Amino acid sequence: MWDKSTHSRAGLDASVRYLRGVGEKRAKALENLDVFTIEDILFFFPRRYEDRRRLTPLEELRPGETVCAIADVLSLSLPEGPAPTSALLTDGHATVRAVWFNPHIHKILKPGVRVALWGRVEYYSGIQLSNPEFEILTDKPPRLIGHIVPIYPATAALPQSRIQKIVADALNTYADHLVDFLPEKIRVRYGMKGLQEAVCELHHPKDAESWLKARNRLAFDELFLLQTGLLLRRASAQAPSTSLVPGEKFKQFMAALPFPLTGAQQRAIDEILEDMQGDGMMNRLLQGDVGSGKTLVALAAILAAVDSGVQAALMVPTGILAQQHYMTLEKLLKPLGIRTGLLMGSLRPDERRNLLESLKAGKIQVLTGTHAVFSDSVDFARLGLAVVDEQHRFGVLQKNALIAKGTSPHVLVMTATPIPRTLILSVYGDLDVSLLNELPPGRKPIKTISLGPEEEGQLLTLIRDRARHGQQVYWVCPLIEDSEEGRTDLSSVSSCYERLSKLLPDISIEMLHGHLPMEEKASVMQRFAEGKTTLLVATVVIEVGMDVPNATLMIIEDAGQFGLAQLHQLRGRIGRGKAESLCVLLEGQGTTPDGHERVEAMLRLPDGFALAEADLEQRGPGEVCGVHQHGVTDFRVANLVRDRKILELARKEAQRLLQDDPALEREPLFRKELMRRLGKTLHLAGTA
Ligand code: ADP
Ligand code: MG
Repeated sequence: MWDKSTHSRAGLDASVRYLRGVGEKRAKALENLDVFTIEDILFFFPRRYEDRRRLTPLEELRPGETVCAIADVLSLSLPEGPAPTSALLTDGHATVRAVWFNPHIHKILKPGVRVALWGRVEYYSGIQLSNPEFEILTDKPPRLIGHIVPIYPATAALPQSRIQKIVADALNTYADHLVDFLPEKIRVRYGMKGLQEAVCELHHPKDAESWLKARNRLAFDELFLLQTGLLLRRASAQAPSTSLVPGEKFKQFMAALPFPLTGAQQRAIDEILEDMQGDGMMNRLLQGDVGSGKTLVALAAILAAVDSGVQAALMVPTGILAQQHYMTLEKLLKPLGIRTGLLMGSLRPDERRNLLESLKAGKIQVLTGTHAVFSDSVDFARLGLAVVDEQHRFGVLQKNALIAKGTSPHVLVMTATPIPRTLILSVYGDLDVSLLNELPPGRKPIKTISLGPEEEGQLLTLIRDRARHGQQVYWVCPLIEDSEEGRTDLSSVSSCYERLSKLLPDISIEMLHGHLPMEEKASVMQRFAEGKTTLLVATVVIEVGMDVPNATLMIIEDAGQFGLAQLHQLRGRIGRGKAESLCVLLEGQGTTPDGHERVEAMLRLPDGFALAEADLEQRGPGEVCGVHQHGVTDFRVANLVRDRKILELARKEAQRLLQDDPALEREPLFRKELMRRLGKTLHLAGTA
């Protein structure tokens, strides 16, 4: 006998091969659906349902509907040649014909039997049921109709009826082996269904209300486990850190700022300084729209670090951005007597050696760099603060690698574009969040329009007009060279550069893309920043970080090719100065419906927070901010667009639970389940 009190999960981890009716071939087919174990099968939920609870009297059949019916077979006509088998059916009030293209039907179906039917009504010189599924009725309740039927993602190798059978069998045998791990108090507080009941209900729902309760319970499970896991990870990362206090240089810098801080910047800086002065370690996410002034907030933190005698590192995702940030930092920090360095993969060996030596000796106080900062050969004398810009480009792991370089440095990560709150909570739920929800004053909203390929003349006029006013222009193309990656339908930087050079001979034009040597890139950028170049034709290398307030026109060719976050980033390169800015989205021949939808969203939504929500809806959490590699948002039931409320609740309950019981000692079942599901993904201590 199965003994529930042992809380064993007997059999659940076994392969699906142990299920009746599953051999090697079907096991393979299930693997293709990501189903490996018996537990996976129990959690392999229907994609949709068919409501087969209502019987339709035969006299009410209407073409186009899919219906359930019960009827007696009056007579059968055997197929002749290519004609289908047809049966005359009656329910006592009306008669109707059913036809099948299966020549063997008459071997199963005989006049006089009563059948349950499920099928589509068509009109074919009279009303008929076309190819209905049927079941000969006995004294047992019908399997085919009378309830809500789960429809699973089926494949050719694994037809619907087979999956339905396999899952139903698995539920019968194994559902009671599921151990409810959710803390009892929470289950009771919200009147939630038990785990076994919820799982069964989601496969074979009684009604809509009961289904909703079941799915919400399971969505809560997933979100609650994740929230608890993230909070645990954060607690374990709370090593004592050096307390960093702003001093002279910080004060000097702030006093010399040419503009007042925005209210949001001031709040964020206060929050950061408070974190860094405490005895814990800062683990904070700075979330703000493009152009909200994140760099300055980071600088404030960096200055506090320098004032406290430790080193700071600023990491960015691309070489171009690293150079740009380095130039900004040098300009601002050198006058204060602070020594800065730039580390990138493309340094010459001797340059690199010198740089690393100065870093190790503590001579460099602020290091800016790309991924190269992670490499093993990089040693800091005393790393006290790590700032990660455009966090979504890095994996979480790399951030950890950097942390390993200091004795638990304070960490500030910054997003490039807003990320929906639901995603922030699920992916960065172990970080505190500061919000820059205010742009510096005087910014004019950016106007966005879209043009078709035939309207180039208008563009040239726009460009000449900007040039006459001494303003600058970006022109972005998806490719570097023509027909790269076999795409002949997309524009490229090099051909666009050639064409525009001919069309606009009196305007200074340059190209920028990832294939240029590093020095070349730096000098192209420098000239554009100094206003010597009017038109910069570039790939998305300019996507993040470029800060040239004099640029007021952004043209994006084949705009539908880019993701929403990317488009928003690109648009954020303009609108940084006092002058009116314009973003022009060109839709080329190859625009897909999805691409067009993104362009439309850009025209409609000016702010990053709204776009981020639209992006989440269009692409799902895995794609937005590149989190798919972490796997933490691969939910089976929960959905970050729909389940906002449940997520907030899960967050609240996770905090409450850990407050009472920080090591989950009183909830061993829950703790075990958490480790089993997320221990590895989240690198939780105590993971086997
Ligand atoms: P992002 O948040 O996109 O990284 P940046 O830090 O690049 O934004 O800042 C965008 C521009 O706004 C920069 O030119 C910066 O100097 C300017 N800026 C930042 N803070 C303020 C402020 N409080 N008032 C006016 N301009 C500001
Ligand atoms: Mg920035």
